Amino acid sequence: MNDFSPISDVDKQQLMSQLCEQLDDAIFILDAEMRYMSVNAAYETMIGYSEDFLLGRPLGIYAAEFLSADERALLQDVSASLTHSGFYERDFSMATRYEHIIDCHMTYRKICIDDAVYYIGMIRDISTVVSNKKKLLHLMNFNQLTGLPNRKIFSSQTNELLMGSTQELVIVRLNIDRYRTIASYVGPDNVNKLIKAFVARIKDLDLDQLLSFSHFGGDDFGLSFQLNDANMIRSQLDSLMQTCEQPFLINGDDIYLQISIGISGYPKDGNQLTSLLNKAEKALHYVKQQGGNDVYWYSDNLDIELTDDLQLEAELREAINACQFIPYYQPKVVLETGEINGFEALVRWQHPTRGLLKPIDFIDAIIKHKLSFELFCQMSLQIAEQLSHWQAMGFIQHVCINADATEFSHPDFFSFINHLFTQHGLHPYQLHIEITESSLMNRHACVKKRLETLKELGIFLALDDFGTGYASLSYLQEYPFDFIKIDKSFISEIIDNHKQYAIVKAILDLGIALNMGVIAEGIETKKQRDFLVQMGCIYGQGYWFGRPAPADIATKMLIERFIIK
Ligand code: C2E
Ligand code: MG
Ligand code: MG
Repeated sequence: MNDFSPISDVDKQQLMSQLCEQLDDAIFILDAEMRYMSVNAAYETMIGYSEDFLLGRPLGIYAAEFLSADERALLQDVSASLTHSGFYERDFSMATRYEHIIDCHMTYRKICIDDAVYYIGMIRDISTVVSNKKKLLHLMNFNQLTGLPNRKIFSSQTNELLMGSTQELVIVRLNIDRYRTIASYVGPDNVNKLIKAFVARIKDLDLDQLLSFSHFGGDDFGLSFQLNDANMIRSQLDSLMQTCEQPFLINGDDIYLQISIGISGYPKDGNQLTSLLNKAEKALHYVKQQGGNDVYWYSDNLDIELTDDLQLEAELREAINACQFIPYYQPKVVLETGEINGFEALVRWQHPTRGLLKPIDFIDAIIKHKLSFELFCQMSLQIAEQLSHWQAMGFIQHVCINADATEFSHPDFFSFINHLFTQHGLHPYQLHIEITESSLMNRHACVKKRLETLKELGIFLALDDFGTGYASLSYLQEYPFDFIKIDKSFISEIIDNHKQYAIVKAILDLGIALNMGVIAEGIETKKQRDFLVQMGCIYGQGYWFGRPAPADIATKMLIERFIIK
């Protein structure tokens, strides 16, 4: 401390001015009229004007007419504050001489030395901080894949509207059906492309009265609309459903999407966003439970239905375990002679409390809860046992089993089938499998291969309810069917309705042309049977020959063999 000597004023000033020259912040000194007196090196590099150029010029550099409205307002602000408090501070985006926009933090101070007034300004370039903040904000508020606002923004936007809205609001929750399956099929990169393409299509719709379109993540989207009358949302919903009519071309593959939509509305379903979102989600959940590809508006009954559905699922699983499903057999006959040439097995559920239930009460739920394979196994084991029993009695019969085509995708399906034949000493031709057109519609890709494998095994295949779907003919061409079953709706009025007659005639001709057997379903009168015989139809089924019945009654029918009256 001994040799310490205080710095002289001259040295101090020199040091300060050198420091000023080396600072990263731009510093400038203005006179009382706010004209440039001096700027440091950082000012010259940051803003782009040299000190020589600036000296004597007013703050703002350019002639006032070149300043933007914002810049002019800022200058007025600066001088007002400086006169009033001697200090000014604010963040601002400004253009440099080269029109590069920088985000900066600026401060101005009024300094008086003797009687002279000076203003010292300092500009700090905070562009990196601001851009990082913006990035962070984007990360927090937007989905990074699609750039759409996330759930948080959706909620705040919609909440704002809910407060004091005189119009009605519609909240839409949208999911892509079978998203996980599609994702694992196309892979992670392609599923991202798919989602982007899907979002682009929805944006292109330019939906009327759309307030917010948000991406909650994965295949989960939210939309909100403001309308005079919530019921007017129909056309927007139709447009949304139609976005998926055309396939998405992803890496050379056509990908077909289906979507499910759940809706709730303000004020009908409440005035709190959380509850509205919750209700739309329940409606969405309900659509998915029903197999998807549909729109559903929340209703108070939904809670009950969802509970009922859960209960039905539990009951179905229990029914599978407890072997409550049994086959009823309906005879298939040669129309001309009335001779039984086989049976169709139709499932019945021996429900512990509700009695004997028909497929209409539960078959959709079986499909929905993915129990088709289990049902198929339970039915075919009983059928195989019955067939071998009949075989032992000397009746070599065949039985048709109904399938919805999802069974075939089960990994154990083919080993089960092989086992079934060997265990019961049956021939594959004793088992026919019937599939409806509607089952084929959704499972286009892999079903064909599986049907071909079944055919190679020697199993006969029939296309059930022919003529009720829209792609009947293409299915006949595409899949290896041996039989066509004409739906009972065409038989019911075959005598009086010329159109139905013409359709049946065309199907019979088709059968001949394609070398496929034709079976008429739902024959209820002798007249219908006679008419069909005249038309050249060989096989038929229907109440007139026999209703579906338990195995012992079917055995009696076999013993009598001919059931023609
Ligand atoms: P399907 O395969 O077309 O079976 C014919 C349906 O028509 C049966 O109804 C049968 O009882 C009824 N039927 C037969 N003859 C006549 C008649 O002369 N007049 C009238 N009005 N109806 C007649 P069911 O047993 O209620 O079966 C309905 C549908 O459920 C079946 O239609 C089939 O698609 C499906 N199904 C039945 N059993 C099974 C099964 O084990 N698995 C699957 N996946 N589906 C099944
Ligand atoms: Mg059938
Ligand atoms: Mg049918």
